[in-house]
Amino acid sequence: MPRPISATISLPSLSHNLRVVTQGLSDISGKAGGRRPKVWAVIKANAYGHGIENAIQSFKEADGLAMLDLDEALRCREAGWTGPILLLEGFFEPSDIAFMDRYRIATTLHCQEQLDMLASARVEQAIDAFVKLDTGMSRLGFSAADYPAAYERARAMQAEGLVNTLGKMTHFARADDDPDVTRQQLQVFERVTTGLPGRVSVCNSAATLTPGVWSSIPDDQEQWVRPGICLYGASPFAGKSADSLDLRPAMTLSSRLISVRDIPSGGSIGYGHTFTSSGSMRIGVVACGYADGYPRHAGTGTPVAVDGVRTRLLGRVSMDMLVVDLTPVPQAHNGSTVVLWGEEGPSVDEVAQAAGTIGYELLCAVAARVPKIVIS
Ligand SMILES: *Cc1c(COP(=O)(O)O)cnc(C)c1O
Repeated sequence: MPRPISATISLPSLSHNLRVVTQGLSDISGKAGGRRPKVWAVIKANAYGHGIENAIQSFKEADGLAMLDLDEALRCREAGWTGPILLLEGFFEPSDIAFMDRYRIATTLHCQEQLDMLASARVEQAIDAFVKLDTGMSRLGFSAADYPAAYERARAMQAEGLVNTLGKMTHFARADDDPDVTRQQLQVFERVTTGLPGRVSVCNSAATLTPGVWSSIPDDQEQWVRPGICLYGASPFAGKSADSLDLRPAMTLSSRLISVRDIPSGGSIGYGHTFTSSGSMRIGVVACGYADGYPRHAGTGTPVAVDGVRTRLLGRVSMDMLVVDLTPVPQAHNGSTVVLWGEEGPSVDEVAQAAGTIGYELLCAVAARVPKIVIS
């Protein structure tokens, strides 16, 4: 018998979430009499822990797939994805360009070194590219001062047959919590890129789900949004639940109780004895710990569901186990089902908040030793 922990991946929920995004885009652009932006479904980090192959199967309606690693791009092609693929950080060395050429992979161009590498490459077919502008994230992208020349150089490569379609791209730092900063970044983007021909890609999940951000891009430019986290059923906004956005959790992390016991008043639990009971109580031991990817920083009070009843974690999370309060679930027994997050349990965002992190990190961190069960 394997340990009773698993991550269940719901392909219908993944598809549903993509539909919520595309429907929202269609509704708004339709009302304005414009075109719906195209969607790069972001599947980096093994589809935020859900498995690339599961994502490809569920995101057939996406216009393209975006990721970071060339081997993830290869897995897409091997799984039969024939549509566009974009590398969000672009390529890393000259030999990557031959690979992109062979597998028809589009690239981000964010630095001078990439332009140099591409300029001296030989390709069978011209490569699709987005030139990235740093509008205030201070991460990847050309500065506003360097951008026009970089774009001009990419256009020259287009004329030489090295580059096929060309686009403009940036990334928002605070689309989840500060519309003013997003507006400022958009202003920089518009100021620097207006007049440069090509497609536009600026929106992550938070910006895609915020009316007024992507729709402020003039409709004569083909726009590609880049949602990630929302496709997996987690919320990009701290103050807004995924549920309220009609998103469904695509991953459910569940396990079972492997021990049930009563502790007396004054009984302390786990490493460091960080929880001591003030009365006698029943507790359960769950086969799930930080080696499974459950956050060790989740402390007493973190929500969890036992036999469908919401309760709380007690004490410190161990490597392979954690302890829960069975007071609200007196009928719970050895073998009872425990949902750490997902369907019929707390949202991954609630658990993340209790652990001082974000749902993204928890989804990506589920350990390889946790078996995945796929529901199609
Ligand atoms: C990860 C990533 C996204 C998607 O971000 P979410 O917040 O998950 O929607 C979009 N664009 C780039 C460049 C990224 O790295």
